[in-house]
Amino acid sequence: MNRPAILRWRLDKVPVAVWTALLAAILAVVVAFSVAPSAAIWMLIAICACFLAWRALRETGRTVIASRHDEIEFVGLAELGPLLEALPDAALLVDENGRIAGSNVAARRQMRFEMRGQYLSAILRQPDVLEAANAAIRAGEARIVEYETSNQVERHTRCSVSPMTWGSERAALLVFHDQTARFSTERMRADFLANASHELRTPLASLTLLIETIAGPARDNADERDRFLKMMQVQADRMRQLIEDLLSLSRIELDEHVPPSDRADLSQVARESLDALGGVAQEKGVTVNLHLPDGSVPVVGERFQLTQVIQNLVDNAIKYTPRGGAVVVEVGASGDRDDVIAKAARRWPEAGRIALLAPAAPANRSYAYVRVEDAGQGIERRFLPRLGERFFRVEREMGDERGGTGLGLAIVKHVVNRHRGGLLVESQPGKGSAFAAYVELAEQE
Ligand code: ADP
Repeated sequence: MNRPAILRWRLDKVPVAVWTALLAAILAVVVAFSVAPSAAIWMLIAICACFLAWRALRETGRTVIASRHDEIEFVGLAELGPLLEALPDAALLVDENGRIAGSNVAARRQMRFEMRGQYLSAILRQPDVLEAANAAIRAGEARIVEYETSNQVERHTRCSVSPMTWGSERAALLVFHDQTARFSTERMRADFLANASHELRTPLASLTLLIETIAGPARDNADERDRFLKMMQVQADRMRQLIEDLLSLSRIELDEHVPPSDRADLSQVARESLDALGGVAQEKGVTVNLHLPDGSVPVVGERFQLTQVIQNLVDNAIKYTPRGGAVVVEVGASGDRDDVIAKAARRWPEAGRIALLAPAAPANRSYAYVRVEDAGQGIERRFLPRLGERFFRVEREMGDERGGTGLGLAIVKHVVNRHRGGLLVESQPGKGSAFAAYVELAEQE
């Protein structure tokens, strides 16, 4: 039975046949008029009826193709090619012998095969998908199969397998939807929650222990009580800092997709940031030297957020510089990105260096930078790529659970990203570290 061919004949050939009949009829009318006018009128009525019937037939054919789902039977296998090609996801059509009967570019690229006619089992080693294809062809069953692959990167795929028929033939349509991005976002969210609660639980556990100690063994000893109260203060401060940093980070992330449109003077922002940290530096016995260019350095940016960047970087620099050491903060501007990178973070030939963030804009834009250099212990090269990761602390990697929240550099990175700028680090163990953030220069007013 070749039902598709018959139906296509009805759709394609009928108009031509009717037009031919119409022409013949007109000729007949002309001839009939000259012989018997009353017969000619009946003939005219018959022609109109034919015309209406043809239109009705055409309309029926169109609606059937456009609206009825099972009318996929109208087209042959080869004609499904453009349909597969139009699908955004990788798609394969598998015939009843388990061979590839059709595919789109996405599928050929993803599964790395060239020819039609290959067996599905030869290009895809997923038993569940093969079984689902078989069930679709043999039993007309539709299934969804989810699976993971891990060649170089881990990928999550959702494959929907649907049965298809045309004529007496059966096939399975396989559409592969890549779910990797959704999975990694979900995992990141879960990791973030797990990390945040772990970080909050640690000082909370210390506080509980200290309270028990004060209420128990240290109850009657005033000196011990004072000592434990000071320790409680440290843990409470740590929790407060953690909550503040988490809130800051989520606020920044909320509008990270909207670049700032304000103007700020980077020199002034640096001056104000250092004023706020004067007390911390003095307490630690660290000198902070500020080098500014002449005149203002106008940048496209939000003043409060740029202050957060500089304060976080300088705070770290003070924290990691030993007593008596010096931190140097420098503001500068440059004509293009390569020049700004060279000036801001290529000063120590022996140092390890990395761009933690790079702007997507063309390299010929003009940028202003702030470089914060310390005389601390430096950071080993292997840890550099992880700086800016939430909760990452080098100290913890070395088995020391103390230290900050591990959120400061994440805040810096997100703010700089919102400003469509860049973040660089160069560091040399034994010499120190230098972090540099750069953002686009604004027109001088
Ligand atoms: P923290 O609150 O722990 O300082 P950050 O996100 O600011 O969090 O920094 C993450 C980690 O990066 C720090 O714990 C530290 O190990 C390392 N780090 C950051 N700045 C410096 C620096 N100037 N010198 C040495 N290590 C640094």
